[in-house]
Amino acid sequence: TAIEIDRVLKGVLDLLQLKAGSRKVALELSVEPDLPAAVGDYDELTIVFQNLVDNALKYAKPNTTVRVSARPMGRDRIAVAVADEGDGIPANHLPRLTERFYRVDAARSRQLGGTGLGLAIVKHIVNRHRGRLDIQSTPGKGSTFTVMLPAAD
Ligand code: ATP
Ligand code: MG
Repeated sequence: TAIEIDRVLKGVLDLLQLKAGSRKVALELSVEPDLPAAVGDYDELTIVFQNLVDNALKYAKPNTTVRVSARPMGRDRIAVAVADEGDGIPANHLPRLTERFYRVDAARSRQLGGTGLGLAIVKHIVNRHRGRLDIQSTPGKGSTFTVMLPAAD
């Protein structure tokens, strides 16, 4: 079904605003005005962006901004990017990052909590939507997770 992605994103940001505040991270949303609807499931896509924003907040440095942005991509897709200014992820870890229980730094992850399932779930749901997950990261600078979804017409 066709869903308005900005409603999904607003819901996710509402849920995580408190966590952002407690971590001293600003959480920003920008959605292009003429964004087409996406083809997908509202609850499943909420889980996707909840996980990505949760990670961004978790791994961001304090006093930085996490930016969530949605834009059309070509004629028939939309792209949603979640960008943080955190420690980034070394390139050698990227290929395995969406595996179940895979974590870059076991000690840090234990300290921050969680199970290492978040990105595996994200990947699974994005695949079911015939979408794509793209991960770009620069160690010391931050990471951007981009979800591409089919647009409704
Ligand atoms: P869970 O999501 O189950 O609570 P988690 O966040 O550790 O636990 P994933 O969301 O699957 O697990 O992420 C896997 C690993 O990828 C994380 O442990 C972390 O090492 C790395 N990671 C994910 N997102 C980021 C990010 N935005 N910046 C830096 N590292 C990240
Ligand atoms: Mg996670």
